This record gives sequence, structure tokens and C-alpha cells, in this order.
Amino acid sequence: MWSLPQLPRTRTLKRIGLLTSGGDAPGMNAAIRAVVRTALSRGIEVRGVQKGYSGLVAGHWVDMDRASVANILQTGGTALKTDRCDAFHDPTVRADTAARLRGAGLEALVVIGGDGSLSGAHLLEQETGFSVLGLPGTIDNDIWGTEDTIGFDTAVNTALEAIDRLRDTATSHERVFLVEVMGRNSGFIAATVGIAGGAEIVITPERPVDDETVLEALNLSQERGKHSSLIVVAEGEDPQFINRLNEHLNAAGYQARACILGHIQRGGSPTGHDRVLASCLGYAAVDHLQAGLSNIMLGVQENRVLGVPLSEVISRRRQTPEALLEVARVLAT
Ligand code: ADP
Repeated sequence: MWSLPQLPRTRTLKRIGLLTSGGDAPGMNAAIRAVVRTALSRGIEVRGVQKGYSGLVAGHWVDMDRASVANILQTGGTALKTDRCDAFHDPTVRADTAARLRGAGLEALVVIGGDGSLSGAHLLEQETGFSVLGLPGTIDNDIWGTEDTIGFDTAVNTALEAIDRLRDTATSHERVFLVEVMGRNSGFIAATVGIAGGAEIVITPERPVDDETVLEALNLSQERGKHSSLIVVAEGEDPQFINRLNEHLNAAGYQARACILGHIQRGGSPTGHDRVLASCLGYAAVDHLQAGLSNIMLGVQENRVLGVPLSEVISRRRQTPEALLEVARVLAT
């Protein structure tokens, strides 16, 4: 459980907007529900924007009442839909959008999304003065200013379930399984899943290894009496890496198989952890707006919910902690 700050309610709000944007993440619905229910309990109306910034630019939003968020807490994806919107990169489009929002009586906007979505939100407030507040919604856990993001825990558990299953067949057939998990720039999912799934080798963008090093590690593992192995690979920049490594291992005499988990990791019912995280952040979003705070993202640090300026959040990327990568390496050998 995270501790929430007690904030004075210094700003009177009548109507706010809410959207989800960029890659979807399990738990976004729990955050939507929390924002809507908290706002309504304080007499604030909520307009739900459809399909992220595309819907914002086009003025596609609907009134949200308590019933509109019933039964979504446990569902994956996002009930508000999401999108990628090239037009929002244009400052004139952002200026027109702010004017449209003000014209509709909206006073602030809550944006749930990843790094890109938070960048768009920051620019909207910086250029137009329209209040925004961001919540970190991404399975990658690579956002600066928070130790956790909505969807990460669920994605890890989804990948782990697949890995446990692959372990069964790897053991039975005495095979090597290469499992690719998400994470183009970050090995956070791979390292976490590698530790939790007892992987023999974990390969991340932070600690890349070549085919020969993997082969040597596998040979060593065989010499120690292991007849099957699980190698967790973060997707990284090179989409062919896992297939090339698979061929290399087969050519060296191993019975290797590659399995790419892909978008399976994005979907599914959020874990209890992600539901509570999203609920607390959604609740705190309304609190912070009512305290007159904006152009911030809410994150968690040392078990506390706190606001971080969006200018800071978008100027850096959170790295996978070295200690986590080291635990994954040591326990794998
Ligand atoms: P995510 O939020 O998951 O990182 P994207 O990077 O695709 O996903 O961003 C989602 C959307 O946010 C983009 O399609 C665009 O509409 C908006 N966006 C991203 N970066 C910027 C930016 N620098 N300026 C304005 N809008 C942006």
C-alpha cells in the first residue's frame, strides 16, 4: 500500500477530461474508474475522451457517470480506447485543442499513458496554460520519476505464466527454450521475469551478449548436469536476434526453440497490485488537481505517491536498476 499525501483543496473544479494514450497497459481501466469515481464524489464532472489525443483533437468525448465505469476494474485494455495521433505533434493543433477544451468548459485533463503521451501532455500545458496531470501507464516500467508503472506487474506475471509452462516442456524434452519478452530499450521485464522464472540466462539491452557467450554459458550449465534451459531475451532493437541465436544453438547441437510472447503481455486482467496502484494514482490525480497542482506526473517512490514535474519526467528515461540485472545474472549461473 502506498501512502497518499494530504493536500489542501485550494482549486475549485467543475469539469475535467480524461484520456488514455499510446500503448495500452493492464490497469488503465482501474485508473479510469478511480479518477471518475473520485471526481464525482467531489462534485466534479468528467468527460471521457475517446481514442487518446485523436479524440481530444476531434472533440470526441462523453459524459462519464458512476455506471459508465462499473465492471471495468478487472478488465485489461482501456475502455476509453487508445490511439497514436501524429497531429498532436503540431503546436497549432495543440493550441486549437486547448481552445476547444476551454470552450467546452473543461478545466484540466488527466492523461494516462507512457513517455510519449506524457510529452504531449506537458507541451499542451506549457504552450497553452491548460492544466494537465499525467499517470504512468506502460508495461515497460521505464518512466523517470516513478518506481512502478500501471501494467508492469501484470505483464511480468503474464510472461511468468508462459515461462512456467515452457519450463515443463523444456524439462520433458530436454530442450533449450529462448523466450522473448517485451522491452525494446529496457530489460526491466526480462530481468524481473528471469529472476522469478529461474532462467538460466537473461539477455537485456543493458547487458547485451553475443551468440558465443550464450553458447559457453549453456555448455557450462550442461556440464553441471542441466539437461534443459530457459533463456529470457528482452526484445531489444534487433527483431532477428532471437532467431539468429536459436539457429546458432541448434547448429551447435542443442534442441533449441524460440518463443516470442509479443502482445500477449499487454492484455489480460490486471493483477491485484496493478489494480491498487492504478486506483491510488487515479484517486490522487483528483486530489492534486484540487490542490492546484498540474503539469506533473504522479508516481510512487519509497512507497509514497508523489508528483514529479512533467518537464523532468520526459527529459529522462528510467534505467533498469543495476542491482536487479546483477541478481538476474548471479542467480542464473
Ligand atoms: P506512449 O505514450 O505509450 O509512449 P507514444 O510514444 O506512441 O506512446 O505516444 C502516444 C501519443 O502521444 C502520440 O501518438 C502523440 O499523439 C503523443 N505524443 C508523443 N510524443 C509527443 C510529443 N513529443 N509531442 C506531442 N505529442 C506527442
